[in-house]
Amino acid sequence: MISRIDLRGAAFPEGGIDRDLLPRADFDVEAALEAVRPICEDVRHRGSAAVLDHGERFDGVRPASLRVPAEALRTALAGLDPAVRAALEESVRRARIVHREQRRTDVTTQVVPGGTVTERWVPVDRVGLYVPGGLAAYASSVVMNVVPAQEAGVEGIAVASPAQKEFGGLPAPAILAACELLGVTEVYAAGGSQAIAMFAYGTEDCRPVSLVTGPGNIYVAAAKRLLKGRIGIDAEAGPTEIAILADDSADPAFVAADLISQAEHDPLAAAVLVTTSPGLADAVDKELDVQVAAAKHRERITAALSGRQSATVLVDTLDQGLEVVDSYAAEHLEIQTADAAAVAARVRNAGAVFVGAHAPVSLGDYCAGSNHVLPTGGCACHSSGLSVQSFLRGIHVVDYSRDALAEVAAHVVTLANAEDLPAHGEAVRVRFGGGEPA
Ligand code: NAD
Repeated sequence: MISRIDLRGAAFPEGGIDRDLLPRADFDVEAALEAVRPICEDVRHRGSAAVLDHGERFDGVRPASLRVPAEALRTALAGLDPAVRAALEESVRRARIVHREQRRTDVTTQVVPGGTVTERWVPVDRVGLYVPGGLAAYASSVVMNVVPAQEAGVEGIAVASPAQKEFGGLPAPAILAACELLGVTEVYAAGGSQAIAMFAYGTEDCRPVSLVTGPGNIYVAAAKRLLKGRIGIDAEAGPTEIAILADDSADPAFVAADLISQAEHDPLAAAVLVTTSPGLADAVDKELDVQVAAAKHRERITAALSGRQSATVLVDTLDQGLEVVDSYAAEHLEIQTADAAAVAARVRNAGAVFVGAHAPVSLGDYCAGSNHVLPTGGCACHSSGLSVQSFLRGIHVVDYSRDALAEVAAHVVTLANAEDLPAHGEAVRVRFGGGEPA
């Protein structure tokens, strides 16, 4: 079901392994850009009517209004299964513990007497949080988006999630309930690229936002890439990925279950096992056959595991395994080896790392306290997952007295002249009567 790439005996060059040797999803966000460009333009020109039209086309339902009525939020929470409510509350509690610690304090540095620079951390005024609702309805993504935004101090929080036919054009009840639980009252029944465009351009129903965060499918990722600049975005968090670095100490049943758990998201999801042990690889193959056959979403899982994006990669040593997973830069990386903590400490590129046999990715999806909105498609080599920091801007506040300016004025004038920008120097000299500072 899952293909094999045998890198035993392969050259591992100094500059890193050739990424083309590694599995990666076939999908192409660039190609999806062409699909979403006209949708975004339409929303820009026709506003809410366009959001509703495209929603109806893809989701097969036209909500009575884009904005979800307050009553529907209250009803959803009142009707939520008490066990699901308790689990969501625990997920929120743990996420708050972790994200609260991420708050930044302003730092003032005295550069010289009378001259200070303060880095002041200011939350974004208004954000649009996307919560996927295509193949599955992600109430957990409400938690993962909203908690860091709230802990950062964002005042304007709007959530969008696709309208669902089976719920009369409202987003899934669990999503609405999670919003109500977290005190988010501005919720829209809108999905895909039309929701991202609604946030970016604004419509009659939704004021524009400054920043859009949240995971989604390839069309959501493409719309975020297209509209970046007009809005800020978090990392592209597209179809999910799991990589597992394992040796012969790993339990094949655990490894197989974890690969399947992420393949369950999407036929485009990627599941990659990197191992020094051909014996483990064979045992995982057997486990996959058994466990996939028993899985509820076996079609989706089979598509994901047998796609070009998934593979078992055989290597000679754990060092080579680390090179492979660093090159791959997975959204989720599990380390299931002897002395897993020491191996995990050497990882350089991953959205999140899960250490040892008892930290499956599912724990991080819901209740570890960590965030599950993480960079995919190799973006983990330059981007981080969602955190309080994602919702903050650091503003440098420069405060210099006359004496402090005088002390450095000559250097400013010299550098300005060296760059042939003499007016820059004049802006300093004018403060000292046009001459040299006294
Ligand atoms: P989704 O809400 O992201 O997408 C559904 C929407 O896609 C629909 O409402 C529709 O508007 C749009 N759409 C569908 N077909 C289209 C087409 N042909 N052209 C233009 N738009 C189209 O829900 P989903 O599809 O279930 O995807 C959720 C994704 O989020 C999964 O891939 C999952 O792996 C991923 N995810 C990622 C993370 C992360 O942190 N990386 C976390 C959770 C989920």
